[in-house]
Amino acid sequence: MSITIDYDSLTLKDYLDELPPSNQLKWQPKNKTLANGKTIQLSGYTTNCVAAGHNDFNPSLHLYEGDKRIVHHCYSCGNRESINSYFHNKFLKRFNPNSFYEGPLAQQKESKEETPEEARRRIEKENTDWVNRKAKKAWKRRQR
Ligand SMILES: [Zn+2]
Repeated sequence: MSITIDYDSLTLKDYLDELPPSNQLKWQPKNKTLANGKTIQLSGYTTNCVAAGHNDFNPSLHLYEGDKRIVHHCYSCGNRESINSYFHNKFLKRFNPNSFYEGPLAQQKESKEETPEEARRRIEKENTDWVNRKAKKAWKRRQR
């Protein structure tokens, strides 16, 4: 089964979600001059480059909303291929139902797991509910 990634449907947030958690993010919109001479701002961020072999301590990767899809450009290494393949692999994982996805959705799921304290409280509540139901039933029986 091959997975096609619909890049046109991906948002800036989708890209940000796939960055290493340690990455710095700086809001950096991109100015765009329209045909009528007006300038608009396109949402964008600079972050640490994800190209292989580029240890980017001073964020130089610019991600911004292009006309059709998200555009990336590293002002330091300019290694488009490597950045492409970084995101491509991440998105392949995300959109392949058969692969184990380690992205933000998985982390969210993990954090929803209950702690021993929460489990104790839940069981306690369930027991109380059960006892209450039983008491109600007994009371109803007595009314007949
Ligand atoms: Zn780079």
